[in-house]
Amino acid sequence: MWRDFVYVIVGGGVAAGYAALEFTKKGVSHGQLCIISNETVAPYERPALSKGFLFPEAPARLPGFHTCVGANEEKLTPNWYTEHGIELILGTRVISADTRLKTLLTATGDTITYKYLIIATGARALKLEEIGINGSNAENVCYLRDLADATKLVNMMRVCTGGTAIVIGGGYIGMECAASLVMNKIKVTMVFPGSYCMDRLFSPKIARYYEDFYKSKGVNFIKGTSLSSLVINLDGKVTGAKLKDGRYVHADMVVVGIGARPNTSLFEGQLTFENGGIQVNSQMQSSKTSVYAVGDIASFPVKLFGDTRRLEHVDAARKTAKHAVSAIMEPKTTPDFDYMPFFYSRVFSLSWQFYGDNVGEVVHFGDFSGTKFGAYWVNDNRLVGCFLEGGGNEDYVAIADAIRLKPVVLDLGELERKGVDFVLAVGQKPPVSPTVCCGGGDSSIPLKKGGYLWYAVSGIVVAASAAAFAYWYADSGSLYRYG
Ligand SMILES: Cc1cc2nc3c(=O)[nH]c(=O)nc-3n(C[C@H](O)[C@H](O)[C@H](O)COP(=O)(O)OP(=O)(O)OC[C@H]3O[C@@H](n4cnc5c(N)ncnc54)[C@H](O)[C@@H]3O)c2cc1C
Repeated sequence: MWRDFVYVIVGGGVAAGYAALEFTKKGVSHGQLCIISNETVAPYERPALSKGFLFPEAPARLPGFHTCVGANEEKLTPNWYTEHGIELILGTRVISADTRLKTLLTATGDTITYKYLIIATGARALKLEEIGINGSNAENVCYLRDLADATKLVNMMRVCTGGTAIVIGGGYIGMECAASLVMNKIKVTMVFPGSYCMDRLFSPKIARYYEDFYKSKGVNFIKGTSLSSLVINLDGKVTGAKLKDGRYVHADMVVVGIGARPNTSLFEGQLTFENGGIQVNSQMQSSKTSVYAVGDIASFPVKLFGDTRRLEHVDAARKTAKHAVSAIMEPKTTPDFDYMPFFYSRVFSLSWQFYGDNVGEVVHFGDFSGTKFGAYWVNDNRLVGCFLEGGGNEDYVAIADAIRLKPVVLDLGELERKGVDFVLAVGQKPPVSPTVCCGGGDSSIPLKKGGYLWYAVSGIVVAASAAAFAYWYADSGSLYRYG
């Protein structure tokens, strides 16, 4: 069957949900927009899967965390799509795309045509087999990318309560799953090759804090080595893992969090690629003018740092999606995308946020034996990044504002001494005159304030949205707050 639409989104995850909401805000007509997803449920806030969804008590369940509750916006239930005349084609994989003919072929044999296509196919979990290890299909080996994975993990945690688990990988998924396993009364051993957890973002000192916290919850860390093979019994269940350093670790279940790969194969050879994803301009437009790419698969210009990045984070997915829709619907008035990288996580009672870039010299501040501490990154004498654990809303807003300004830092010791007060003081500076704040390009105008120089860079519009807090509502009505 042939189906014709003006706008088609391939992929039905976070970015698709936020794009759908934006389309309705921009006045899309009934019958013009279609979303094709191989998942069987309407778009939802994926980060909930490694947090509220895994809680042993009052867990988050759909429809509680459909997009766009994570940004404190409307919850788009399947009915919402019907009411807005948006066709939601679920449980259907797109198996080929022709960007010249502007057609998509689905696994059910339908051909869908579009005038504008938004690619929002996200990423998939990297499988053990892809690094030469067998065992992914064992019933007690879990990954975590989608609802089916999360459901399997919940069921396995129930079976293994009181038992043991190995978590392979020390990144976001590994850390968040380890915390959930502990909350579900499972003893965890984490195995990863790096010398500390979250080594792509954390400094060794920050990592030490989290590792010590995890150890206080009974988590065992085996670092500097990796999985060699899984030991599988005659029933097809994993009973343990052999590590490359020769050690053997017994386990009743295994959680694998060894990274993700962008789902871009449909478009290879048709679009320009960069950073392992689809290259887009500041309107999220690919090398084919009718095709836009958003979310995990998009490699887009980050004006603030003068380079291009592909970010596998929810805030980028939400904002690239909204921007693409704006660029499609209002091309003349949509400005260039101006994004500040923003990441966060929440484990146990801990909660951190990071803004900007973790390059250059790192300066730690705060009380690492308490509950509130952080780090600044200073590159070429400018403040480019800030991590804060245990901050409040005011702190995070101030950090977002300050990193946008990239103030010059002449004295690293001042950052250490003042801690969050440094960025809070940035917000207290007198309003910058429009001629200063709205200049283009990289033109920087130094303003004297206190003992240091301020540089007002172009477009200092406060990224209030970047610091906005996200909320997830579980069916129980309890509130999970995240930023
Ligand atoms: C468990 C988990 C926890 C996370 N927690 C955080 C967090 O705390 N903070 C943070 O910043 N980020 C987090 N992330 C990352 C964040 O969820 C992603 O960056 C975000 O979901 C990306 O949105 P997306 O729309 O690009 O991709 P996705 O949300 O992955 O959606 C892609 C969709 O496309 C579908 N699809 C793919 N190929 C096809 C095809 N050929 N045909 C049809 N449909 C297709 C997929 O099934 C999926 O539904 C987490 C990710 C996971 C997996």
